[in-house]
Amino acid sequence: MIDVRKVLVERQAGHAEGTLLVRECLVWLLLVGVTGQVGCGAASELVFINTSFENACPLHWETDKEGVIHIHLVYDQERGSTNRANGHWFFQLQAVPGARLTVVLHNLENIYNGRKGAPSEKGCLSFVSEDGKVWRPIHLETTQGRGLRFTVTVSTGSLYVARLEPYRLSDLEKMIARIRRSPLVRVTKIGATVQGRDLEMIRVGDAGAPCRVLLRGRAHPWEAGGNWAIQGLIDRLLKGDADAARFLERYCLYVMPMANKDGVVHGRTRFNQLGADLNRKWGQPADAAIAPENAALEGWLTRMIDRGTAPHLVIDLHNDSFGQLHVTRLDIGLQDYLKRMDVFEAMLRKHTWFTEGSVGSGRRVGTIEEGLVERFGIDACVLELHDTWIAGLNDTPSAKHWELFGAQLAEALYRYFAEALQSKKP
Ligand SMILES: [Zn+2]
Repeated sequence: MIDVRKVLVERQAGHAEGTLLVRECLVWLLLVGVTGQVGCGAASELVFINTSFENACPLHWETDKEGVIHIHLVYDQERGSTNRANGHWFFQLQAVPGARLTVVLHNLENIYNGRKGAPSEKGCLSFVSEDGKVWRPIHLETTQGRGLRFTVTVSTGSLYVARLEPYRLSDLEKMIARIRRSPLVRVTKIGATVQGRDLEMIRVGDAGAPCRVLLRGRAHPWEAGGNWAIQGLIDRLLKGDADAARFLERYCLYVMPMANKDGVVHGRTRFNQLGADLNRKWGQPADAAIAPENAALEGWLTRMIDRGTAPHLVIDLHNDSFGQLHVTRLDIGLQDYLKRMDVFEAMLRKHTWFTEGSVGSGRRVGTIEEGLVERFGIDACVLELHDTWIAGLNDTPSAKHWELFGAQLAEALYRYFAEALQSKKP
């Protein structure tokens, strides 16, 4: 019987390294018992899993005796609740060039609204890239143990794997650097995240335009689609052609592009660094100590309302596996709002690739559209971009398709403001 404490004492005493490694392996095998889950020195062509970069997710891994790599994702947890989430993964497999690796992702039993879930039996989509720029989809199968399994060839010695095509803080910073020279753009700091990162409001167009629309992106850090759509919309509005002039004559765009910057940087899934869900608790004033990201937005909205320049429409961009437009159906006399949301949905269907339809809840859940409609009287909706399939394009989602959606949204907004607000003069 090997005494673990003795091994550790021997290590401190600088015992011969080779002997120690063998003994540590034996100890480790004893500790894991006979489950066979972990192989000591199991044959694998995996060299390392790199998570040293921006937006990479926290994880640990082990290789079993068959050479299968088991990656354990680290749950992102909500404060004051049992909710937890793992929906973002982003790491780089480093292996012998040409290695064919089988990987299983674990810890996908998320808890949402107090109820435990598991990955869909249909599995899910993920994306891989050799260079971190050109991505292609792969399918992950659900295992009996509620994990997600895939096999890939690491032809060049390294391969990035990400849940969705990533949009990092550095991508946002590059976009802001590119657009801020335009006389049509103004970038204003409206607050800071829990970790002190600047939260900006980007204005595109003339503040005196008859209509105003506000978009928020990335309340939930795994949902990169919204950032690509925002980039597509801003680039469309700054194209300098006759259509761009037509759009900006009718409306001014405001964007809070990345509400949960800390979560994006740290590769988290849903909550901010203090465990706040930035798409919850909108039924009450934001707690600046816990959710400064929401307090910053609420402060900006309050100032706009005080100046008589409240947005006529707020769109909060997300990703999920349904891809629908969410409106609130609280029983508080929202008939006119619901009529306008019907018009907005019709414009999305007509002018963008959106086909998924709308859904609404009559129950108070504290989401942003509900809070803004009820507390501020501002038309608001949540637009979920489908994370697996874009039916309107008959293709898997990608940065290119989401940017196209953003570009098409420019026309949809133009038509929406023309039709929906005839009865409600801005
Ligand atoms: Zn979301």
